[in-house]
Amino acid sequence: MSSVDTTIQLIRTGDQAGGICSPDLADGPWIFDALPEPVYGPGSSMGDVIPVSSPRQGQLPREYQSASGDELDARIRAAKATLGDRVVVLGHFYQRDEVVKYADFVGDSFQLANAARDRPNAEAIVFCGVHFMAETADILARPGQAVVLPNLAAGCSMADMADIDSVEECWEQLEALYGTQPDADGRVPVIPVTYMNSSAALKAFCGRHGGIVCTSSNATTVLEWAFERGQRVLFFPDQHLGRNTAKAMGVPVERMPMWNPHKPLGGNDAGALADARVILWHGFCSVHKRFSVAQVDKARAEYPGVRVLVHPECPMEVVDAADAAGSTDFIGKAIAAATEPTVFAIGTEINMVNRLAAQYPQHTVFSLDPVICPCSTMYRIHPGYLAWVLESLVRGETVNQISVPEAVATPARVALERMLAARPGTTAAEVVGD
Ligand code: SF4
Repeated sequence: MSSVDTTIQLIRTGDQAGGICSPDLADGPWIFDALPEPVYGPGSSMGDVIPVSSPRQGQLPREYQSASGDELDARIRAAKATLGDRVVVLGHFYQRDEVVKYADFVGDSFQLANAARDRPNAEAIVFCGVHFMAETADILARPGQAVVLPNLAAGCSMADMADIDSVEECWEQLEALYGTQPDADGRVPVIPVTYMNSSAALKAFCGRHGGIVCTSSNATTVLEWAFERGQRVLFFPDQHLGRNTAKAMGVPVERMPMWNPHKPLGGNDAGALADARVILWHGFCSVHKRFSVAQVDKARAEYPGVRVLVHPECPMEVVDAADAAGSTDFIGKAIAAATEPTVFAIGTEINMVNRLAAQYPQHTVFSLDPVICPCSTMYRIHPGYLAWVLESLVRGETVNQISVPEAVATPARVALERMLAARPGTTAAEVVGD
């Protein structure tokens, strides 16, 4: 099976039938670094509003823009060989195959952050993922390790939907409404819970306010932890993970008001907030928002007996229509566990779906979404940037380092450690995320 990038190029030239959500996907991502205003780039997030303060990637040197795939391959392999154990390259499941093939570890965000810790001799951790992942790796890295993000424009539109100023403002309004005193059972009015897919500043906010981090695989455990300590939860930035998880725990949807940061009281009346069990931030992932109940129905009509597996960042109606919902790790393990040839329709990022299809030829594995529309920001990492950061390291230059100030990293680490302690006996390696 050809890679997503190759398929996009073939569709663009008319050599293959199929749909892509933007013809610009076929261009080198450096085209978008050169624009006067920041953009998420083509792909699933291209319609989202990008903060003006988003990190910008400077111009990639021309030699990397014009190099052929074979030339970049030779240069990346040579740089890695020269650097040896001094560098570790991490590749997220949602990265293109042309990048993942150089990764020493492939996984989800938290698995990768921890994989870096297992390479104490690595002076540089090159994180082929997005900005919040590199921040988490830096928070968990050993002193002296530099975390490098090959393209600084690789952010995350969902993480950007909750910024620290808006969350602080929300918190002030909630404190004014609920007060700060615990009830008779010692439960405080609100516990903040942030998804791993959030900035370090939000993880630090949770650390400072008795809150915690969760991933898509441990969200139930984390919400149980939070409900033991609080009367209600403020969950950010992904409304869908919050809603899907709390609903599965028996929280009625009517008791999960949405917080729109652009409106007073988040657009709610005080009565609805008084009755709330989970206050959901108005955030979402534009990759997973693309999946629909109509796609599930179509898969079931075309493939009787199909198993539909979706990520919990999908809308509630899609999760309800699927056979199962879970993290990237859950989806991979569910396919690996099938002993008979099975048809799987998957609702998560297309690079991962294609890789699973290639990995398990005994099964039929396809994306619910017929249109090829990768995560815009993951797609900003191209082998050209990887070659540039690695060759810079060979020359003794560390470019694109992601460094979280200690004043932020320390409380963020508190929230991460609460997550690990929420389920006694859990090791970091067992906790997985997006
Ligand atoms: S898939 Fe969604 S949540 Fe993950 S990095 Fe892309 S936009 Fe962010």
